[in-house]
Amino acid sequence: MDKEKAAGIAAALKNEGYEVAMVPDLCRKAMEASPELPEIAAGVILACHPRAVHSLLEWAGQDAKQVEDIRSNSREEALARLGISCSETRDAAEKERFRNEIAAFPAENGTDAWYPVLDKTKCIECGKCHDFCLFGVYTVANKRVRVTQPQNCKNNCPACARMCPNRAIIFPKYEKSPINGGTALEETFTPGEMDAMYRERLQQRLQQRKAGIPLLKKEGE
Ligand code: SF4
Ligand code: SF4
Repeated sequence: MDKEKAAGIAAALKNEGYEVAMVPDLCRKAMEASPELPEIAAGVILACHPRAVHSLLEWAGQDAKQVEDIRSNSREEALARLGISCSETRDAAEKERFRNEIAAFPAENGTDAWYPVLDKTKCIECGKCHDFCLFGVYTVANKRVRVTQPQNCKNNCPACARMCPNRAIIFPKYEKSPINGGTALEETFTPGEMDAMYRERLQQRLQQRKAGIPLLKKEGE
């Protein structure tokens, strides 16, 4: 996240009389079914990757009303889309306040609330992610795949996203697109590589089953 840009946008909105709330970890709020989610979903959400936010809130049972991209758009463009102009002088004090608020966020180390989110507009329900995962994160019911045990996902691992045939799996905290929900292709795998990953994982899964290893993540994994 471009913290300077986020602080500048928040300051301009605040000075225009809008209520502004900074949310440091929407993944955690979604996973914990925070009572704040309906209010968050009903507002205008400014985020780096709208596809990730829509999918995350959909998984949490909410319909995000409006999500604006503040990664591809400049501060001026993002505010113009909301009908607001910026003024460095007017916004300076508020911007400093939001800058400090962002600086006080808990450190992001990728180990907190890390789990896959499915973009259901792209998912073809092939079930490969469910077969692939060794930790029971996914469940298939009525031919529909769902993330039901997000806490079992291995920290910092986006493995299943790499072999999804339709790039439907998002890890919002991953650094590269399209796995983080972005539109750029910063990391790609050929169909052959994806098949190889899938086959190798199936072998591991079979061995895991034979050995009777429980589908749970150990503490600290
Ligand atoms: S592998 Fe991808 S397309 Fe297939 S069920 Fe999982 S998310 Fe959907
Ligand atoms: S990243 Fe690994 S542990 Fe997490 S859901 Fe995908 S396959 Fe399972």
